[in-house]
Amino acid sequence: MNIKANIERIRESVPASVKLIAVSKTKPVEYIESAYAANQRVFGESKAQELAEKYEVLPKDIEWHFIGHLQTNKVKYIAPFVSLIHSVDSLKLLEAINKEALKNDRIIDCLLQFHIAEEETKFGLNEEEGLELLTSSTFKTLKNIRIVGVMGIATFTDSEDEVRKEFRTLKSIFEKLKQNSFKEVQYFKEISMGMSDDYQWAIEEGSTMVRIGSSIFGVRNYG
Ligand SMILES: *Cc1c(COP(=O)(O)O)cnc(C)c1O
Repeated sequence: MNIKANIERIRESVPASVKLIAVSKTKPVEYIESAYAANQRVFGESKAQELAEKYEVLPKDIEWHFIGHLQTNKVKYIAPFVSLIHSVDSLKLLEAINKEALKNDRIIDCLLQFHIAEEETKFGLNEEEGLELLTSSTFKTLKNIRIVGVMGIATFTDSEDEVRKEFRTLKSIFEKLKQNSFKEVQYFKEISMGMSDDYQWAIEEGSTMVRIGSSIFGVRNYG
């Protein structure tokens, strides 16, 4: 497997306006170093301790994104350095992130994760829950987090129609939230959608960030 060649091939089909996140979860540090040598600087991980360990030993100009399900008691491992948390699906988690961000004297950027897939196992809010969270009095007190957009994972299926429909759903949720809660600000602009098998459709449906793992680093045995 040639990580450099994989990254270069993928970059050709990802416009410069779309951020390519190399999903390195479960993969060893050496793989990340290969991608780094190919000028990749943005990486995604889905386990807090694994991310913290990799952060320690790798170059400090890497932008780390957290993309997995995050437990409130694990926020502390990533709060000092994480660039973006894609997977916020409750007010409780947002409060925990705010608390750790405050301790580190930072403002942590977050995305709200929405459930757009047919599968029941995927985490995420529905549109109504998202609106409710953003209009809650608790949310307004959280000064050390900033919601910069939305994230979603489409159904694992060969049906292009289904996957595109789900991406359009996420895009429409994004527009709704923008209209309702972020009309006055510039920073609410990210739509994180698209993985190895569907990122080209995601980009056509308005994605601003694609999260690509196996097409860069090979298939995973777990995680
Ligand atoms: C693992 C993972 C990815 C990458 O998936 P690939 O199919 O390997 O590209 C993207 N997003 C999330 C949330 C993930 O957990």
